[in-house]
Amino acid sequence: MLKVGINAYGTIGKRVAEAITKQDDMKVVGVVKAHPNYMSFVASKKFKLFVPEKSALKSFEDSGIKVEGTLENLMDDSELILDATPEGEGEKYKAIYQKNKKKAIFQGGEDHELTNLSFNAYANFKEAWGKDYVRVVSCNTTGLIRTLFPLTAFGKIKVRANLVRRATDPDDYTKGPINSIVPDLKIPSHHGPDVASVIKGLDIQTMAVKVPTTLMHLHFVNVTFPNEVGVDEILGKWKGKRRVAFVSGKDGVKSTSQLMDIARETGRERSDLYEIILWKDSISVKGNELFYYQAVHQESDVVPENIDAMRSMFQLDEKEESIDKTDKSLRIGELAYAR
Ligand code: NAD
Repeated sequence: MLKVGINAYGTIGKRVAEAITKQDDMKVVGVVKAHPNYMSFVASKKFKLFVPEKSALKSFEDSGIKVEGTLENLMDDSELILDATPEGEGEKYKAIYQKNKKKAIFQGGEDHELTNLSFNAYANFKEAWGKDYVRVVSCNTTGLIRTLFPLTAFGKIKVRANLVRRATDPDDYTKGPINSIVPDLKIPSHHGPDVASVIKGLDIQTMAVKVPTTLMHLHFVNVTFPNEVGVDEILGKWKGKRRVAFVSGKDGVKSTSQLMDIARETGRERSDLYEIILWKDSISVKGNELFYYQAVHQESDVVPENIDAMRSMFQLDEKEESIDKTDKSLRIGELAYAR
């Protein structure tokens, strides 16, 4: 059993921790919480709790939440640290993990240069094989790679994608916008170069706007192929990729709120949708150009990628075995239906 310590139990950390409990080859040794609040209390009922450093011990003691020790103590018992700290903390923590000779996985809020290895299971599982430091790319980048990587089988493709981004996560009452559409004035937005850090050499440009929703992101994707390609051939490349699920307006699925309803009604934990959801009836081909819409559940699509990255770093399973195992444990693939 691979022993994993989770540094930070926020949106991503708590989901990866839960996903690890569903695997038969890894376990959670403990989780780090920085502040004694309701989420620390919840976490302490499921996992052993640790704090980033000694100075935080007293506040936890005062609040009556049981703590086992510090991050240093957690590292003693762990073979890998899953770092899900807020964006920008990675560099500081990488130095600590390195000093303690611990492998670590970082998240998409960090720069590619932190690890020089950005990961997606479909695209480059084997690149992380035996490596010490890996970064799982962000939710939007994961979403784009999931549907684009299979299309690279057609040759050199050109991608132009527009991203409608959720403002913040549902539990966050501090950020906006609440009545505005906010364009990312840097073109390309960081997502395009990030996709190309995994699918090397891909010709991709992205633009992004932020809107007042917390549920999901929505992408408009345009792909140009070297030659004309039919819809059935394109669907053939996505076939069997369980992490891409199809829905259809014909079934009444016309919005991200309904996708979240599907997640709730099918009993997904926390209403998570690990799959990238592609509207089958949006798939349109004009000459050698393809157009489609897809939706990304930002809180959960990176979770299976983190699990597979661990297996690759510890050489536990080959790509297909790892993906199969992860998908089965998280019920990924059950949502693949559309008329
Ligand atoms: P979050 O804000 O939900 O959680 C971060 C956690 O870290 C909180 O529990 C916070 O208390 C704790 N924390 C704060 N300061 C800390 C410190 N100095 N040391 C240790 N812990 C500290 O963040 P998140 O959304 O889970 O994001 C984590 C990483 O995952 C970021 O790199 C982010 O870009 C990436 N990511 C986020 C999403 C998303 O949509 N939320 C999706 C994919 C990737």
